[in-house]
Amino acid sequence: MIVFDNVNKYFGDFQVLKNINLTIKKGEVVVIIGPSGSGKSTMLRCINRLETVSEGTLTVNGIAVNDKKTDINKVRREIGMVFQHFHLYPHKTVLQNITLAQVKVLGKSEEEAKKTALYYLDKVGIPDKAGSFPSQLSGGQQQRVAIARGLAMNPEIMLFDEPTSALDPEMIGEVLDVMKNLAKEGMTMVVVTHEMGFAREVADRIVFIDQGQILEEAVPEEFYANPKEERARLFLSRIL
Ligand code: ADP
Ligand code: MG
Repeated sequence: MIVFDNVNKYFGDFQVLKNINLTIKKGEVVVIIGPSGSGKSTMLRCINRLETVSEGTLTVNGIAVNDKKTDINKVRREIGMVFQHFHLYPHKTVLQNITLAQVKVLGKSEEEAKKTALYYLDKVGIPDKAGSFPSQLSGGQQQRVAIARGLAMNPEIMLFDEPTSALDPEMIGEVLDVMKNLAKEGMTMVVVTHEMGFAREVADRIVFIDQGQILEEAVPEEFYANPKEERARLFLSRIL
C-alpha cells in the first residue's frame, strides 16, 4: 500500500532521508522509532506530500505521490494524519472540527457529515463533547477528536506523528486504546511513537531510523529483546 523505493530527501544541502526502502502492506501497523531529528516526521510527511521527495519513488496504492501528474488531493483523501499538537481549529466546536473537511473535501451534506462525526466521537469515547470547544477539553480528549476527524474522512491509511508525546501521562492510555482498537479493526497505520507497550501489542514491525537511514527493521519482540544495531541498543537504553 505504501512503498518507499530508494527515497532520498534533502533540505538544501542537508540530506534528511538516505536511501529509504520500505514496504507497508494493507492492514499492517508499522512503528517508526529513532532519535530526535533522525527524519521520522519527514518520512511520514513525504507519504502525503506535505514534504516532497527529492530522489527515488514513493507510491501509495500504486500511485507515485511525487509524480507531477498525480492528483495529490486524491491521494490525500485516503490518508488521515494525526499530529503531536492536535491541530484542531480553536474557534470551532468539536462537531464543526469533524464535519468541516467532510463537507468541503468530500462534498457531503451537513447532516450526513454530522451523523458520521457523532459516530466517530462515540467510537473514540467522547460522544458528549460534540458541542465543546477544544480549549474546554483535556489534551487526551483533544487528541481523540483529532483521531475522530481523521477517521470521519474514511481513509485507508492513518499516519500518527508522536500522538501522545504532548500529553500528560494519565491521558496517554486513552489515546493509545483508541489506536489499538483501530489497529485491531485492520487499519493500515504508520505510527511514530516511543510507546513500547503499544508497539509490542499492535505493531507488525518496528523500523529504527537514525540520521536519515533505516538501520533496523524487525518484529517488536525481536527488536526490543535483542536489537542488532549498536545505535538501536543505545537508543533503547536511553528511552526505557
Ligand atoms: P524527527 O521527526 O525524527 O525528529 P524530522 O523529520 O522532523 O526528525 O527532522 C529531521 C531533520 O531535518 C532535522 O535535522 C530537522 O532539523 C531537519 N528539518 C526538518 N524539517 C526541515 C525543514 N523544513 N527545513 C530544513 N530542515 C528541516
Ligand atoms: Mg518528529
